Amino acid sequence: MTPASQTLSSQCTSSADVLIVGCGPTGSTLALLLEQCGISTLILEREQSIYPMPRAVHFDDHIMRVFQTIGVAEALKQVIRYNPGMRFVDPQNKLLLDWPRPQGISENGWHSSYRFHQPDLEKILRDKISASPLIQLKTGTQVTDVQQGHNDATLHCQLNNKENSEVYRGRYVVGCDGANSVVRSSISQQVVDFGFNEHWLVIDVLLKHDKPELGDYTMQHCGRHRPATYVRCPGFRRRWEIALQPGEQHSTFTDDKLWQLIGDWVSPQEAIIERSAVYEFKSQVSRRWRNGRLFIAGDAAHLTPPFMGQGMCAGVRDVANLAWKLALCCNRAQPDIANRESYINTLLDSYQSERIANVTQYIETAISLGELINTCSTTQQSNNQAGVDNNTVKMKSIVPTLGEGLGAELACEVTGYWFPQPRLSCGDLLDDVVGYKPVLVVRPELWKLCPDNLPIPCAVLNTVSEPELATCLDALSVSAVLLRPDRYILGGATDIKALETLLFLAGNYV
Ligand SMILES: Cc1cc2nc3c(=O)[nH]c(=O)nc-3n(C[C@H](O)[C@H](O)[C@H](O)COP(=O)(O)OP(=O)(O)OC[C@H]3O[C@@H](n4cnc5c(N)ncnc54)[C@H](O)[C@@H]3O)c2cc1C
Repeated sequence: MTPASQTLSSQCTSSADVLIVGCGPTGSTLALLLEQCGISTLILEREQSIYPMPRAVHFDDHIMRVFQTIGVAEALKQVIRYNPGMRFVDPQNKLLLDWPRPQGISENGWHSSYRFHQPDLEKILRDKISASPLIQLKTGTQVTDVQQGHNDATLHCQLNNKENSEVYRGRYVVGCDGANSVVRSSISQQVVDFGFNEHWLVIDVLLKHDKPELGDYTMQHCGRHRPATYVRCPGFRRRWEIALQPGEQHSTFTDDKLWQLIGDWVSPQEAIIERSAVYEFKSQVSRRWRNGRLFIAGDAAHLTPPFMGQGMCAGVRDVANLAWKLALCCNRAQPDIANRESYINTLLDSYQSERIANVTQYIETAISLGELINTCSTTQQSNNQAGVDNNTVKMKSIVPTLGEGLGAELACEVTGYWFPQPRLSCGDLLDDVVGYKPVLVVRPELWKLCPDNLPIPCAVLNTVSEPELATCLDALSVSAVLLRPDRYILGGATDIKALETLLFLAGNYV
C-alpha cells in the first residue's frame, strides 16, 4: 500500500463493491441491477430529495423489461399509460410523418411505448432502494474528487451544510451524475458533438378537468414560427415543449406570455401551469466511458435532443449492459484465467464499444427528427435515418444492435441483436423465469448432443417444450442462441461444433 492510499483508507467512512455517483434513473437502476447479482453498492447523491422537475415522459418496451428485471414493473403499471404514437404536422396541420405504436403487447411482453412522469418513476426506484439490504444511499452528499489506485477507487465528498468532508472507497466507481459529471472529468473531457444545440421552453400543465380534444397522440407542430411539441402525459398532466428564438431566456416568459404560447390548445380557465423551465437540447457523446476502475453512464456519457424520448432510456440501456460485467469482475476469482487483467479489460472495455454505437444511432435519428420539426423538410437523407417509408409517411421504431464487443471473434450474424421476451409454457415471461442471468435457448436436436456439464453457469431453455422460443430461433435462422443477462445475443449456432465454440468462448464472459 502506498503512503497516499494509507492516508485515504484511514479516513475512509464506508466502502462497497461499487460506488455510484448520482441517484437519478441511471444510478438507481444500476444499483438495483447490481443487487440482482449480489453486489453491494453505495450511492452518493448531492440532493436531499428527488429532482422535482419532470423531464422524461417516455420509455419503451426494452426499458420496461429492465424495470421488470429489477422488480418495479408492477408498481410502475399504476402510474404509466400506453402511448399510441407521434404525428408530425406542418403549419396547415397536414400530416408529414406518422409514427404509430402498435396497440397490442409487443414481442417484448409489454406495450411498445409508455408515457410517465419522471418523479413518479424516481420515487418507485427510491422506495425499492430503501428496501434493499445491499444498497446504501447517502443523500446530501456531493462528490468533489475522484481517485483510483491499483485495487480500488476513492471518492471525496462534501456533506451539505457541513464543513468536513468524507471519503468512500469501492472496487469500481460509476458516474451516473448527469450532464455536468464530476466523474467524467476524471475520465476524459473530450466529446463528439453532433451539432444539434437548441434552447426549448418546457411547460407542464395540470388540467382542471379532462380535455379529450387534445388527443392521446404526441403532436409535433413542425416548421411554425415556433415549432412545438404536445405530449399527453398520465392523468391530467399535459406538456408543451416550444422552441425558443435567439436571445430568449426563461425570464423572458411572464405567466401571461406562457399562456399565450399554449393558447392555441389550453386556457387558464382549464388548467394550471405546474412548472416551466428552459432546457438546452444537446447532442453529444463522450469519447471515453472508462478509465481503469472509473465509468460513466447515462447523461454523464451522452446527451440527445428529446424528440425520440430516448435520453433516460439510453442511460438504462447503459447500466443494463454494464452491471453484469461489473458483477463478474467483482464476483469471480478466476484462478484458471492466465491473464486476469486482460480478461477484465476485454469485458469492461466492451461496455463503451457496444454502447456508443447503439446510442449514436438514437441521437442521429433524434437529430433528423429535430430537422423535420424545425423545417418541415422530409428530405431523403433524414427520412432514411429515421426509418421512414416514403410511400406511407409512416415511421417505424428503430432497434439498433450493439456495437462491436463481446463475441466479435465468433463472426456470428446474430451477435449483438436484441432477443424478444415471449411468455413461456408456465405462463410467465422469459425474464421472470431466468432473471438477470445468461440463458441458452436450444433446439432439442442440438441439446441432446451437448455435454452433461455445460462449461458455463447458465439457465437452459429447450424449445421442445417452448414453441414461442422455437419461433424466435426460426426468425434468427439458428438452432441455439446464448443470451447475455441484458438480453442481447452473445452468439448463435446452427450445429454442435458452433455451439461448443460459442460455449467455450462464453466461459470467458458469462
Ligand atoms: C425536456 C426534457 C424531456 C425529456 N424527455 C425524455 C423522454 O421522454 N424520455 C427519455 O428517455 N429521456 C428524456 N429526457 C432525458 C432524461 O430526463 C435524462 O436523460 C435522464 O434524467 C438522465 O438520467 P441520469 O440518471 O443519467 O441523470 P440525472 O437525472 O441528471 O441524475 C443525475 C443525478 O446525479 C446527481 N449528482 C450530480 N452531480 C453530483 C455530484 N457531484 N455528487 C453527487 N451527486 C451528483 C444529481 O443531483 C442527480 O440526482 C428528457 C429531458 C428533458 C430535459
